[in-house]
This record gives sequence, structure tokens and C-alpha cells, in this order.
Amino acid sequence: MENNCIFCKIANGDIPSKTLYEDDMFRVIMDINPASKGHSLILPKKHFANIYELDNNTASEALVLAKRMATVMTEALGCDGFNILQNNGETAGQTVFHFHMHLIPRYKNDGVGLNMEGKGEPDYSLDDVQAAILEKM
Ligand code: AMP
Ligand code: ZN
Repeated sequence: MENNCIFCKIANGDIPSKTLYEDDMFRVIMDINPASKGHSLILPKKHFANIYELDNNTASEALVLAKRMATVMTEALGCDGFNILQNNGETAGQTVFHFHMHLIPRYKNDGVGLNMEGKGEPDYSLDDVQAAILEKM
């Protein structure tokens, strides 16, 4: 547990939350400021600030749980689609620095602003970007 981390406290039950699921590794809670009806968060009980710190076992189990939650929530809420979102770093919109995955049920015309619209033809070389990434793989 990290000092002063609100999600450590929530995940481990020191601060009450609207819990949808809990096991040894995770707690799933309802977001207090939901983007859509049912917006929830998967929190690991161990503290990882972001995806870079996450261990592989937690990473894989988080996706298995996301799949289960998406399936159950879609059936329960009758949503028309589902976004799984995960922010790393302030620039990417992260505001709580304890790894979490957003579960966002989507409804026709819900107006949720997650639009990752393309910006047209890039003004940089895709080959260069590919090469830079491949060098580090
Ligand atoms: P992010 O911007 O990806 O770091 O997401 C943080 C999310 O946590 C936001 O959607 C907040 O509404 C949500 N949040 C912050 N504090 C709480 C809390 N005490 N209980 C439930 N959700 C919270
Ligand atoms: Zn934490």
C-alpha cells in the first residue's frame, strides 16, 4: 500500500466504495463521476502507479476480469457497446496515479466524448516511427 493513495485505500476496503466485485487481487468499484450509466473501475489491490509498473500477472488477470465485467454489465444494463480505457500520465488524462481500468458502458447517442479521430495524413514518416519502436522491442 502506498501512503496517501486513495485507490489503495478504496481497493483494500479502508475507504468504502460501491463495489461490484472483489477478490484477492482486485476490487471493481463504481466511478463517482460516471461518464455513462454504469461507468466503473477495476483497481488492483497492490499499488502500481501505471501500466509501466504493472506486473505481468496483474496485467493479464486485469484483462480477464475486464472481459467478465463487460459481459455481465452489458447483460445487466442493456448497453449497446462498451469501452475499456486506461490512462497513463497526466498528458493522457490520468488523474489518480494508481493503475486502473475504466469500464464504460456505451448507449446509442450517449454523447460520451472518447472520440479518437484521426488527423489525416501524418506529417512525419511512419517508417521512422516503426523503426524507433522496433529498435526497442
Ligand atoms: P483517470 O482520469 O483515468 O485517472 O481516472 C480517475 C477516475 O477515478 C475518474 O473517472 C474519477 O471520477 C474516478 N474517481 C476519483 N476518485 C474516486 C473515488 N473516490 N471513488 C470512485 N471513483 C473515483
Ligand atoms: Zn495505490
